Amino acid sequence: MSITTINENSHWFIFQADRLLIVKQNSSLKMPEKTFSSLTSSLVRQHKLGLFNNIECYCAEVSKETLLPQELAALPLRQAFEVLERVWFGVAVKAFSVINWDRNNQFCGRCSTPTQHTISTFERICPACGLALYPRISPSVIVLIRKQDQILMARSPHFTPGAYGLIAGFVEIGENLEQTLHREVKEEVNIEIKNIRYFGSQPWPFPDSLMIGFTAEYAGGELRIDNNEIEAAGWYRYDNLPGLPSSSFSLSRKLIDHYLAEYK
Ligand SMILES: [Zn+2]
Repeated sequence: MSITTINENSHWFIFQADRLLIVKQNSSLKMPEKTFSSLTSSLVRQHKLGLFNNIECYCAEVSKETLLPQELAALPLRQAFEVLERVWFGVAVKAFSVINWDRNNQFCGRCSTPTQHTISTFERICPACGLALYPRISPSVIVLIRKQDQILMARSPHFTPGAYGLIAGFVEIGENLEQTLHREVKEEVNIEIKNIRYFGSQPWPFPDSLMIGFTAEYAGGELRIDNNEIEAAGWYRYDNLPGLPSSSFSLSRKLIDHYLAEYK
């Protein structure tokens, strides 16, 4: 099922591969608010996201070959997050996750029949065996560990050069969040933690996470990195931190900013 006209009052989160289409207006960038009739016939994977900030929101994809109107820029999502108004962050995450889920669930995993969907439900149904496929969220934990006035920062090989972050990892089946924290910290830097406190959470669409943030205190053990996941780690004081996470909107950055605010 498809939508044939693009409503003037709707917001469309349209992706070309992993890039979000954003309107160029002079030197600024904005979400598409107006009609892009030249793109309408090219839209696939159309889904209604719902009402956000009193505006009906939709997502869709165009093929890599689709020629974009001049007023549209295609930005990698992380870059788009830096220019989008913050109120659209969650909707853009949802849009990207729904498009990815749709791409990855075109066939039934049980009987391999092509699946079908309607625009208004996040459900792909197998017409042969009835299996219903829904977008999934993978919970992940992230923790800021303190040792007196220092915090533990670590570098993963895939970080941008010079950037350090916090210990993080996916929740495994059968674990509660506290167990995940203890396991990840032990695996990655070989230490024990105590006094775990919930900090906040954030959807994170790389690829389909819900990041759940905590603070904790160092409880013991000698810092030793697991070279598979971490290439450097150390204790850093507020006045001598290494490069911070590159995404200003990330939960790791919020945790670090919260720690820094204590010393201002
Ligand atoms: Zn099936």
